[in-house]
Amino acid sequence: MRCPFCGHGEDRVIDSRASNVGDVIRRRRECESCERRFTTYERVEYTVPAIVKKDGRREPFDRQKIIASMSIALSKRPVSSERIAAIADEIERDLALTDAREIPSAAIGEKVMTRLRELDEVGYVRFASVYRSFRDIGEFAAELGRLAAGESEPVEPRPGAEGAVAQPERSAT
Ligand SMILES: [Zn+2]
Repeated sequence: MRCPFCGHGEDRVIDSRASNVGDVIRRRRECESCERRFTTYERVEYTVPAIVKKDGRREPFDRQKIIASMSIALSKRPVSSERIAAIADEIERDLALTDAREIPSAAIGEKVMTRLRELDEVGYVRFASVYRSFRDIGEFAAELGRLAAGESEPVEPRPGAEGAVAQPERSAT
């Protein structure tokens, strides 16, 4: 690991511990040249099938979008960012373990809602009320961002959106 202060390439690990949430290893390091200390985080990256948006376009899975939309839904709620990151990890792992070649983006939103329902009711309601009229996590994250910035009125679900909620996906057995 290159030292972020002096650019030196050698360091020694002072301390290494698994995070209590998620598959993350935290390492405390000391540069062998300037002796400054820094921390690195190491996590498994899974290979997730392509995500198919509701308009049919494909895009790579983006863990940060899940984190961003959950963070906004859980804003000022007693849920740590580590917990949110751990949930994103779980969802990523779940998706990587499916046999599907591609995954509808709605399935990701459903997974997030399932986790939120167990975790924090307020966050769940915030997420569900906005998400259900979008059905696409990317669009949803963008809209939540606008709402948070106070740039638009809260969105009413589109007519008929209520009955159009996706069934929880089931993997073929
Ligand atoms: Zn250094």
